Amino acid sequence: MSEVRVRENLYSPSILTREREIKIEIDFLGPHFNPYRKAHGAPHDKERHAGDLGNISADEDGVANVCLKDLQIPLSGPNSILGRAVVVHADPDDLGRGGHELSKSTGNAGSRIGCGIIGLQSAV
Ligand SMILES: [Zn+2]
Repeated sequence: MSEVRVRENLYSPSILTREREIKIEIDFLGPHFNPYRKAHGAPHDKERHAGDLGNISADEDGVANVCLKDLQIPLSGPNSILGRAVVVHADPDDLGRGGHELSKSTGNAGSRIGCGIIGLQSAV
């Protein structure tokens, strides 16, 4: 995953559905990737969107280096995440436990502050 610059320490990445062709306009990206129609949760919960990736930390320069392994976000097959978007939200994800009206849909993670399209890089 590429380097993501954020402003402070704790932010929440999610994988979203892509409802339009590749033209990254962050406000047009869809909801969290959710092929099993579950509620928002933490990465290790049984009840979670496949795209729920929890929280990441950034260093004092706002740089977060992230390596994720997750069986619900394969790079092939019907639920492949290739071509989908990864987004970093402005606030920590409450992992569906915050009691806010958005906790079970977005983790009440705030606005979208960065995004990218997931793809494969050739070995050239
Ligand atoms: Zn979610």
